[in-house]
Amino acid sequence: MNNTPTDCCADPGQKLLSVEQGRARILAAVPAIQSAEQLHLRAALGRILCTPVVSRVDVPPFANSAMDGYAVRSQDCPDSQAVTLEIIGSSFAGAPFAGQVGAGQCVRIMTGAAMPDGADAVLMQEHVSRDAGQVRCENRIVQCGQNVRYAGEDTRCGDTVLHAGQRLGAAELGLLASVGVGEVRVTRRLRVAFFSTGDELASIGTPLGRGQIYDSNRYTLFGLLSRPEIECFDLGVIPDQREAVRAAFREAGAVADLVLTSGGVSVGEADYVTETLGELGEISFWRMAMKPGKPLAFGRLGEAVFFGLPGNPVSVMATFYQFVLPAVRKMTGEQAREPLLIQARSTRDLKKAPGRTEFQRGILQAGADGQWHVSTTGLQGSHVLSSMSKANCFILLPAEGTGAAEGDLVTVQPFQDFRC
Ligand code: AMP
Ligand code: MG
Repeated sequence: MNNTPTDCCADPGQKLLSVEQGRARILAAVPAIQSAEQLHLRAALGRILCTPVVSRVDVPPFANSAMDGYAVRSQDCPDSQAVTLEIIGSSFAGAPFAGQVGAGQCVRIMTGAAMPDGADAVLMQEHVSRDAGQVRCENRIVQCGQNVRYAGEDTRCGDTVLHAGQRLGAAELGLLASVGVGEVRVTRRLRVAFFSTGDELASIGTPLGRGQIYDSNRYTLFGLLSRPEIECFDLGVIPDQREAVRAAFREAGAVADLVLTSGGVSVGEADYVTETLGELGEISFWRMAMKPGKPLAFGRLGEAVFFGLPGNPVSVMATFYQFVLPAVRKMTGEQAREPLLIQARSTRDLKKAPGRTEFQRGILQAGADGQWHVSTTGLQGSHVLSSMSKANCFILLPAEGTGAAEGDLVTVQPFQDFRC
């Protein structure tokens, strides 16, 4: 990068960068945060682990019963014969039986209770009849290990239970607790500053003047950035004036690891974002082969990484998902993962011009035929933010193609990928 717009810059005749090329360049340029903090489990929810966790215990720590029933010696219950066993005691969860199960004996046992010495299987209580101090079992095949959960079946002492780069969700917090770990080292929170640019932007609560619109991008960005691993700084609406844009850049660069702006990266006359970044930092101004979201400024502002997102509200979201989120993941050390892509039948013709990958907004539904079906949300302009609210997925139409016909299989990327 250098101080003037480079690569596929403002010259509209220049070649567009594919989404994959753009993402690869961004990922090669952004640094990972190096500092970490030690947090208690609850405070670590949603954060990115930065050192692996090795278990110092077996889970479960002892062999125990998977059922309510009777702990027996399997050799006392030969295949398909009726047997009667004497009940010599009981083992409850947290209150194990202290003795030894001998020939012809059994112990009443509850789910999660320790297996008594001598017993190697559990008969389900539904499979026996009880009479005073005895149980009778008829024609049951009892195998060694039946209904027994062995020590270390889930996790063994010495196993790496979680790896660096894993996000700590509900399952991970529970897993850490199950091995007795109460604190973890996670990447410190990424500081992200953002602001909107545009003279036409009015803030909520003020009446709209002629030619004005409400600033929605700051709210969308607030929503997109409200994640446990991010601390965000909303720097407001900045008018299209050189000095104001400069001051906002200085403020953002001073507080943040990552700076996001929306608007002002087109080649319009009042678009000062790229110009200011060229002055105060380093910039590459790219034209991405995607729709929506063609213009994108990317660069450095001091130590901070900078993205100048387009102004149109759907373009903000599309470029955030395709470029900013992968950068956030790299900066916070989160393991890269492939997006979940699904093949679905289009319910109608989807037309496009060749040249750019389209991210149409779709509604994905399971059909009565057992297949996925997807329809668009209607008008697909990059200003139609309601399309993002109606949609539950992007329909990805490849750059080189001309769209799809009704009934064709198309690739769909769900907004929520079943891994919350
Ligand atoms: P620009 O990239 O500044 O030329 O803006 C492109 C389009 O996005 C224009 O129609 C702007 O009015 C609109 N726009 C820019 N910023 C915002 C914002 N914060 N909220 C809603 N619309 C915006
Ligand atoms: Mg503008």
